[in-house]
Amino acid sequence: MTGPTALAPPGPSPDPRVGPPAMPEPGEVARRLGISEEAARLARDCEVVDLHVDTFIPPRLWGYDPLRRHGAALAGRWFFGHLDLYRIFEGGLGGAMWSITTNPIRGRRGRWRAFQRNLAGLRALVDRSGGWMRVARDATEYREARAAGAHAVLISVQGGNALDGAPEGAASIPDDAVVRVTLVHLTDSGLGATSSPLGLLRRDKRLTPAGRDLVRRLDERRIFVDLAHAHERTFWDAVDAHDRSLPLVATHTGVVGARPHWRNLDDRQLEAIADTGGTVGIIFSEQFLRRPGGPRDGRMVVEHMEHAIRVAGEDSVSVGSDYDGAITPPRDLRGGECYPRLVQHMLDAGWGHERIAKVLGGNFLRCLAALRPGRGGT
Ligand SMILES: [Zn+2]
Repeated sequence: MTGPTALAPPGPSPDPRVGPPAMPEPGEVARRLGISEEAARLARDCEVVDLHVDTFIPPRLWGYDPLRRHGAALAGRWFFGHLDLYRIFEGGLGGAMWSITTNPIRGRRGRWRAFQRNLAGLRALVDRSGGWMRVARDATEYREARAAGAHAVLISVQGGNALDGAPEGAASIPDDAVVRVTLVHLTDSGLGATSSPLGLLRRDKRLTPAGRDLVRRLDERRIFVDLAHAHERTFWDAVDAHDRSLPLVATHTGVVGARPHWRNLDDRQLEAIADTGGTVGIIFSEQFLRRPGGPRDGRMVVEHMEHAIRVAGEDSVSVGSDYDGAITPPRDLRGGECYPRLVQHMLDAGWGHERIAKVLGGNFLRCLAALRPGRGGT
């Protein structure tokens, strides 16, 4: 197996007659990425789960096929082209929350129809993978997917207003397929307010009654309530409306303690999520991570993780890259083949193996088992 080449034409689609590939041997990964064999072995032996990938956006926009091998980041490392199925296996990414992002410009009914179409489209993509990917709706299905050697796809929604036009709200989601809903995205909606400067609609920045109702319904359906992108008033209202016995998540975010920014969570917010037994996925977007005079590579991600660990403890921090979500990752984390390099940065920062295993995937899988154990129980 050869490494991805910049600007190489897309390679073949997966061959269903051949089972999912294993991650390359640690020596090979170490050589390719210029990291230690210890880091490569840890990346292989730990379960790596990414709490937010937007790799379903480019297929919707211009027909990018994530099942084929692409050169490392189509347009350099900027915005898109970070992940494809081959690089998912090369980087040892066991599972990820694949997001279906809501287009806020559509009307209420149109959003719900578009969501249903996109859900079917994402499922069709998984079906075309020839068994290399499998949808996992709960912890049992996650384990089954991984036992079959497949990459586990946890279907998620970014922008809870996708459900506004659904006859029964979250209960209308076909087949209980969605494991997480991010309440708001980059604009204010009928549910609440975004932290983004594009939030122009809701002057009070509060979660609306419809937003409170959605939080309660998500809890009822045991769907993760995701507070990434929420304005802090909407955030705190959602914490208040939420059943605190269930884990909250913020799937892709930086932290204010490492870099003050409107997109990042402050210490009290990190504590509130940890108090529910939940976890916070640290984003790979250098726009939100980089501090003046700080590192310019993947150490930025580790700095944000370390601050979150100091505040919230090492059981409440995870990986949430936002690959393919129009972000620019640090140069040495430019795509899915680079997760083992993040492990090297963790080792370089003096992290023990146990902490690394928790942050790479253990913490999130604990939350998944608590919220959605599936028929296998916890
Ligand atoms: Zn996002």
